[in-house]
Amino acid sequence: AKRHGRGRAAHYASGMMEAVAERHTLENDIRIALTEGQFHLAYQPIMALADDAVVGFEALIRWQHPTRGLVAPASFIPVAEETGLIVPIGTWVLGEACRQATRWQPHQHVAVNVSAVQFRSPMLLAHITAALAESGLPPHRLEIELTETALVEDGRQIAHTLSALRQLGLKIAMDDFGTGYSSLAHLRDLPLDRIKIDRSFVAAALTDNHSMAVIKAITQMGRDMNILTLAEGVEDADQLALLRRLGCDAVQGYLIGRPERPSSSPPPARASGAR
Ligand code: C2E
Ligand code: CA
Ligand code: CA
Ligand code: CA
Repeated sequence: AKRHGRGRAAHYASGMMEAVAERHTLENDIRIALTEGQFHLAYQPIMALADDAVVGFEALIRWQHPTRGLVAPASFIPVAEETGLIVPIGTWVLGEACRQATRWQPHQHVAVNVSAVQFRSPMLLAHITAALAESGLPPHRLEIELTETALVEDGRQIAHTLSALRQLGLKIAMDDFGTGYSSLAHLRDLPLDRIKIDRSFVAAALTDNHSMAVIKAITQMGRDMNILTLAEGVEDADQLALLRRLGCDAVQGYLIGRPERPSSSPPPARASGAR
């Protein structure tokens, strides 16, 4: 039994060492990716339900690694956050997204994900100001998406940063709404322009009355508080019909359009096949 236990411990330890080594390799690869330009952005359309117009696009990072292939953000963003590399990555994303958005129609905005680590960086405001100045994008066409984890720490500091961002003229969205905690305090205390209802609610809405009730309550609160609501992860026409009925302002999801690398021609003004 003793030998068995030690064997397991050794096995566990070597597994851990492999994990640590893999992390180091990944970290190194991220640094290389930044300098060699291996990242690009895909853009997913956002459709307003008032008139089915594409009112903007969310920028989503993609990593084309020379040997790993296409690496999903979920498998490198956490390491980038732990190592602080998310700050230079996020700065690149801001610049690239703003440059790209200047080629779109003037009423279309670009939504950029800002990680909690990047949000707390003292350089965030300077990076955003630079991205806007260098691209010439009007500030109201930039929206930053924050998750609730970005907003849990020092409440006053957060409110201060958000007001400063708003003073620049850009928009602020709360991402993945409903999955974190103290959501209602955030709605009450923070200057938000948009709530993005997490796709888990949308996925369950047709079969689970409670999920539908949550979406209904969020859209009602949004109306009362003058905050736009957007439902994420809309994959089929029945979900879309329900969200229309519940009064969501906008939708995003595979039904409307998948994230795509920009072509050289401008994107369509209207979504196709989304009715
Ligand atoms: P997110 O911000 O919640 O982005 C939405 C994710 O849902 C994207 O995954 C998108 O491709 C996917 N999605 C869109 N429509 C549908 C749908 O109808 N059904 C389903 N099942 N999925 C849908 P993606 O691109 O893999 O990104 C995953 C996460 O990685 C993002 O979640 C975001 O948290 C993070 N991320 C992506 N790009 C960036 C970035 O530039 N900076 C930072 N900090 N995080 C990023
Ligand atoms: Ca997002
Ligand atoms: Ca989201
Ligand atoms: Ca998410």
